[in-house]
Amino acid sequence: MSGQRLNGKRALVTAAGQGIGRASAIAMAREGAQVFATDVNMDALSTIRGENLENIEIFELNALDVDSVKAGVARANPDVLFNCAGFVHHGTILDATDDEFAFAMNLNVRSMMRTISAALPGMIERGGGSIINMSSACSSVIGAPNRMIYGTTKAAVIGLTKSVAVDFIKQGIRCNCICPGTVESPSWHDRVKALGEELGSYDKAMEQFVSRQPMGRVATAEEIAALVVYLASDESGFTTGHPHIIDGGWSGQ
Ligand code: NAD
Repeated sequence: MSGQRLNGKRALVTAAGQGIGRASAIAMAREGAQVFATDVNMDALSTIRGENLENIEIFELNALDVDSVKAGVARANPDVLFNCAGFVHHGTILDATDDEFAFAMNLNVRSMMRTISAALPGMIERGGGSIINMSSACSSVIGAPNRMIYGTTKAAVIGLTKSVAVDFIKQGIRCNCICPGTVESPSWHDRVKALGEELGSYDKAMEQFVSRQPMGRVATAEEIAALVVYLASDESGFTTGHPHIIDGGWSGQ
């Protein structure tokens, strides 16, 4: 354990099997939280045991399934809820089907409605809590090519965040969301490979992703996890209802 900023807090993380969710579960545990790291992919999730952090408990939670969410929230009884589960659909509006739109809305937005409504009563009873939702710079912040469904769902996450923040501010609940630019993760590597096949060159695909970040690089999952720790901690006690943009200058030019 390296710090104590989250001592005494119980933190539930969805999609903690890899990428930003995994890095955030580890970072919060290193700051002293009792972390409940969950995912649908138990093979990926169990690799977190290799970190040798006694204060991380892992179990399966499917963010698409209301019973699974209720059981997971009851087990964790969280003070901090990090809703990280999400999926990137590729294409313009002309490539999108109704089913793809419904699936993305379900995983990227409705899953958060499920977890938040399950976790809020306990937070209210204890007099406070911090909810952190995963949005994206690609949302109402900025448009990105071939991200119609994704950007629409992530803009909805900002609306959901603001609604929860305003409705429960008097009960000590804070609700913020995170808007990253491109972040290195297993699914991002798959997206680079897929675009590489379309463009006939992996290097060209990588160049396209990297060039939209004015810093000339993508983020590490750990850089996003540091923001999650801040929003989970009492240090961020005066911020609620906001999208926190962390995008390597993508939207700030
Ligand atoms: P990732 O996409 O590589 O991993 C996603 C994880 O979600 C996997 O472990 C998967 O098993 C899990 N998952 C899938 N369906 C689930 C379900 N129904 N219930 C619970 N877990 C489920 O990880 P990532 O790229 O770090 O993305 C995490 C979040 O961050 C997503 O919401 C994504 O939209 C968002 N985000 C990512 C980037 C990026 O560039 N990587 C940028 C901005 C926002």
